[in-house]
Amino acid sequence: MLSKDILIFAECRDYEVTTVTFEMLSEARKLSQQLNGKTCACLMGCKVREYIHFLRDYDIEKVYLLDNDIFLKYSLDVYASALQKLIVKHTPLILMFGATSLGNELAPRIAARMKLPCITEVKRVWVAGENLVIAKSCYDDKVYQNFNFRPERTVVVTVLPGDMEGEKAERSSEMEIVDEVIHLEPDRIKSRTIKFIKGDPRKIDLEEADLIIAGGKGIGKELHMVEDLADILGGSIGGTRPLVDDGIIPFERQIGITGRSVSPRLLMTCGISGAREFVAGIEKARLTVAINIDPTAPIFKFANLGAIGDLHKIIPLIAEQVERHKQNMEKGK
Ligand code: FAD
Repeated sequence: MLSKDILIFAECRDYEVTTVTFEMLSEARKLSQQLNGKTCACLMGCKVREYIHFLRDYDIEKVYLLDNDIFLKYSLDVYASALQKLIVKHTPLILMFGATSLGNELAPRIAARMKLPCITEVKRVWVAGENLVIAKSCYDDKVYQNFNFRPERTVVVTVLPGDMEGEKAERSSEMEIVDEVIHLEPDRIKSRTIKFIKGDPRKIDLEEADLIIAGGKGIGKELHMVEDLADILGGSIGGTRPLVDDGIIPFERQIGITGRSVSPRLLMTCGISGAREFVAGIEKARLTVAINIDPTAPIFKFANLGAIGDLHKIIPLIAEQVERHKQNMEKGK
């Protein structure tokens, strides 16, 4: 029988749990209170027990641990097959993945194999009487579509990073850790991962980026200023429309009302005035740091931190400090 629990796939990347996981957990908590169900998370991988502490602040009732060598390297077949077994065993009402490259691959595969409903790029979920309402973004956030229905089977969704709150919560009950032992039939495993080639952080999709260095007209044609800082910080590159118009960055790197809407943990704007068409795309950034030579630039009204001055002087100073900090960290190891 279908339970009332919400199950979050807690994605781990680079020794951390992804931010979208926390966003889903806080949304799931509100939902499970309305539904009288439980907020559950699934940690999957090798030695993932070490990640449990990341989840402690989110008032989760249950964590399913799928901790096994076979999950060391991500494989669509292995992960999907194991999660299918978990769904059959616990029948969550909703299974949520972040709309990341991994979630975008796993969610529809599981739903198709199990003939479950699947809604992607979800922005909000709420309860209306006996029904669930799931709001989905379409056409790059230009249209919203609400699905209002009474679920009869587990609903698989992917959630867009940056749209839900991600608030921590007081613990209301003990967090139960459930060690799941999953046996997979070898003939189900048709693909395997040979090796991971890490993508260039400067080029990852802006909507998924955690750290963005954005350049504006103030950088002139010197994109290398922004690229160098992005290299040192491990960030992605974005920019304003004039840079796209001048052919300095491609359109998919444009931030703003006619470009991408971003939600990084840190956004640094360099030589950007802060026109409202640009600011419309950065409202979900957690921390915005602006560098601009003009103290009256509108970006300073929006930014959390500001540096007034010539970016040609300020960027190298930041780069130097970051390098020094990195070296000190290395020595301290
Ligand atoms: P500017 O406004 O020219 O600002 C450059 C800034 O650099 C200035 O504040 C200046 O003080 C500073 N500066 C100069 N030299 C230095 C230096 N050496 N050191 C430090 N700072 C320096 N724009 C977008 O970005 N995204 C959109 O999606 C978008 N959509 C649009 C849609 C429509 C329908 C329209 C009409 C416009 C749109 N625009 C968009 C354009 C927008 O209105 C602005 O023109 C644009 O955002 C300005 O870009 P900017 O900040 O790079 O340039």
